[in-house]
Amino acid sequence: MNNALSDVSFWFDSIGELPRIEVVPLPAQIDVAIVGAGYTGLWSAYYLKQRDPSLRIAVFEAERIGFGASGRNGGWCMGMAWGVDALLHNPATRSRGVTLARALFDTVDEVGRVCQAENIDAHYTKGGSLNVATIPFQVAQLQRRRDHLHSAGFNDSDFCWLPRDESRARLAITPNHGALYFRHCAAVHPARLVLGLADVVRRQGTVIHEGTPVTAIESGRVLTLRGPVRAGAIIRATEGYTDTIAGERRRLMPLYSMVTATEPLPAEIWQQIGLKERETFGDSRRVVIYGQRTLDDRLVLGGRAGYYFGSKRRRVIPPNDPKVVRVKALVTKLFPMLEGYRVTHGWGGLMGVPRHWRPCVQWDTTTRTGWAGGYVGEGVAASNLAGRAMADLVTGTASPLTELPWINDEARRWEPEPLRWFGAKAIEAFGDRADQSEFTTGAPSKLWGGLFNTFVG
Ligand SMILES: Cc1cc2nc3c(=O)[nH]c(=O)nc-3n(C[C@H](O)[C@H](O)[C@H](O)COP(=O)(O)OP(=O)(O)OC[C@H]3O[C@@H](n4cnc5c(N)ncnc54)[C@H](O)[C@@H]3O)c2cc1C
Repeated sequence: MNNALSDVSFWFDSIGELPRIEVVPLPAQIDVAIVGAGYTGLWSAYYLKQRDPSLRIAVFEAERIGFGASGRNGGWCMGMAWGVDALLHNPATRSRGVTLARALFDTVDEVGRVCQAENIDAHYTKGGSLNVATIPFQVAQLQRRRDHLHSAGFNDSDFCWLPRDESRARLAITPNHGALYFRHCAAVHPARLVLGLADVVRRQGTVIHEGTPVTAIESGRVLTLRGPVRAGAIIRATEGYTDTIAGERRRLMPLYSMVTATEPLPAEIWQQIGLKERETFGDSRRVVIYGQRTLDDRLVLGGRAGYYFGSKRRRVIPPNDPKVVRVKALVTKLFPMLEGYRVTHGWGGLMGVPRHWRPCVQWDTTTRTGWAGGYVGEGVAASNLAGRAMADLVTGTASPLTELPWINDEARRWEPEPLRWFGAKAIEAFGDRADQSEFTTGAPSKLWGGLFNTFVG
């Protein structure tokens, strides 16, 4: 097992050598077993210990802490999640949608609060997020969205429209026709967040067993490649890797997203680009472009989706992968002033996509097993809220969090291959068309939306 995960992402490369894995004997019996040491597993452990410090908790991680999406993502700690918009659109579910949205807004502050209280140096800066209209028709689309959100009870201090000049002053992306500014978003260094959180969890007394794949979860015990462990409660937090667990093959579709990072850019370039408050940014096609300014002044830009037949996974995605190369090409297309500057890193990571495209926190009081995830690329903050809800469910604490709409909102399973592959390829193909004509017509974006809706429906 590697002691550095430099090939996994820029974030890990910036951290360098990790401590060697400390192999400790597996316990025979514990109170709570958690499978997966990403944000979901670790936040669950953190809040469980807050609720009941006497709990004996062990986390089982197949690779290293943060090896999954938590150590690879775009670093948007955003107070939003898939599924919220649909709740807000339907008058019958609107008030539940508002409650979930407000809980997610607060979660961004909660992550910042814990970072401060526990000395996690995750480069957390709450600068909000710019949803930029890069195609003229998106102006009306984003303004309609703002109006709709305001009619649901939010206001300008949550979402406000920035006309073209104001938007350009904040971000010199080309083109920029205006932006919907969302206040509840922070930029973070993802790997620092997950590793820092793991340190805190260990200090609380939880044992993290790295290099310990779990092959099956049964009521009352987990089977690992190092032997079985009995547990009073079991939480699965395996996201895009869920098919490694027996019987869970079609639960979440593993979909790749690709990211790039430039070299640190000089002050004069940042004077041109903007992002003075480290706002995160994207356009309204969410999956196509997302970015942030890192604390060491790099531009991180991500986008594109990728799926491999049979949900095949790749341990790392190299910088010369064609999909990474296409994100790289977007850097100078969107920011012409970066011509001549180096894109030093390119990588990919796995998102977990449930059949209904929204997260779920599931808990079975009879078997005392549960899982959380299905964030579809929007889980940095949502995993904190899921972890808190999970801690309440496991400890039997009635709270507003255990009433949130995503509790036990399980999707049906994905179709078997080759249907799943055809669906995923269609998403990729429409993404390609969106790239080719992204600045000329609204059609590709609408096709994306339509396709997603087909999947959601
Ligand atoms: C490229 C990319 C960019 C993203 N950008 C953003 C963003 O900017 N903002 C945002 O909100 N979200 C983003 N996301 C999504 C976000 O990163 C995830 O939703 C979040 O990290 C999920 O955390 P998790 O702990 O549930 O899963 P993961 O971090 O994937 O952790 C799962 C862990 O479980 C382990 N595991 C799996 N199976 C087993 C097993 N059988 N036995 C033991 N261990 C196992 C894995 O090794 C892994 O470490 C992005 C995702 C990707 C891939």
